[in-house]
Amino acid sequence: MELETRIVKAEKGLDEAVSLIKKGELVVFPTETVYGLGADAFNGKAVEKIFAAKGRPQDNPLIVHIASPEQVRDIAVDVPSEFFLLAQKFMPGALTVVLPKSDKIPFVVTAGGNTVAVRMPDNKYARELIARSAPLAAPSANRSKHVSPTTAQHVYDDLKGEVGLILDDGPCGVGIESTVLDLTSEMPAILRPGAVTAEMLAEVLGEVSLHGKELKIAKSPGMKYEHYAPKVTTVAAESVSSAVEYYDGMLAEGKHPVLVFRDIYRDVTQDRNLVSLGVTAEDYMRNVYSALRTAEKLYDVIIIETLKGAGIERSVMNRVVKAAGGKIV
Ligand code: AMP
Ligand code: MG
Repeated sequence: MELETRIVKAEKGLDEAVSLIKKGELVVFPTETVYGLGADAFNGKAVEKIFAAKGRPQDNPLIVHIASPEQVRDIAVDVPSEFFLLAQKFMPGALTVVLPKSDKIPFVVTAGGNTVAVRMPDNKYARELIARSAPLAAPSANRSKHVSPTTAQHVYDDLKGEVGLILDDGPCGVGIESTVLDLTSEMPAILRPGAVTAEMLAEVLGEVSLHGKELKIAKSPGMKYEHYAPKVTTVAAESVSSAVEYYDGMLAEGKHPVLVFRDIYRDVTQDRNLVSLGVTAEDYMRNVYSALRTAEKLYDVIIIETLKGAGIERSVMNRVVKAAGGKIV
């Protein structure tokens, strides 16, 4: 059944969102990372609708969003003290923590696993919605395998007809999905890098494994899928000069290429087609998904800048390498 999809300012739409969640329906809500497609995390039937709306494989688990750190007790069991140490520093924020699952959480949320991912988003409307209805199981509000949405319009472009209400709170401030940290393994392990970096986590926890991603595939089925891919050919450029060379080659073949780069290389990129990522690494992170969505609408070959540093630069590159399907020029 096709739904009429409405974008409503978060403040105005909140009451309706609360009643939709209580009725077991879906609502798109804003967070600081990307927009989420939420359902009552205790209601398995409601959560199933998320997978249908996105076309998401059932073996890809969801994150449960909470309104306060204490609410974790409803979601998880045997919560280690590290969770509350991390909460003091990073909650609300772009950090998701994987914990042993409570019986109250249906297996459709965790893709059949015994662990559950929990996050407290840094958006007051998201938290109010959760506090007034229920913890929200949610993935990013894009069609499965497409680039994550950082505006209400991105969500509308992907999910029109699949969801009734999109709460709009403007563009997301962070711009890429949360860091996922597994606290159920012997050493805390980063399963997905994000704005809360390994360096920041190590300051609180002492040691953090960065190789969790490779080691923990069974625990996080999400990782085996190609995420975040634009609809047109996308390559990552080793350097601005290799990007320009590839661009000119594509142009000679009759293609319509575009550079997705920061403004700091204008002297090299000159008057070639460009979608700007801003100036700093934070700008790049905030703008990258929006830039990829703009680029795929207008051009047929995307050539995107690579960042070389640690910290958030490494997290952003995790997404960019996936977007490019590993193709580097
Ligand atoms: P997303 O894929 O961004 O739309 O949000 C959900 C993501 O959270 C998944 O793809 C996983 O990477 C991660 N996740 C959720 N639950 C778990 C879990 N139990 N263990 C590990 N990672 C998880
Ligand atoms: Mg996603």
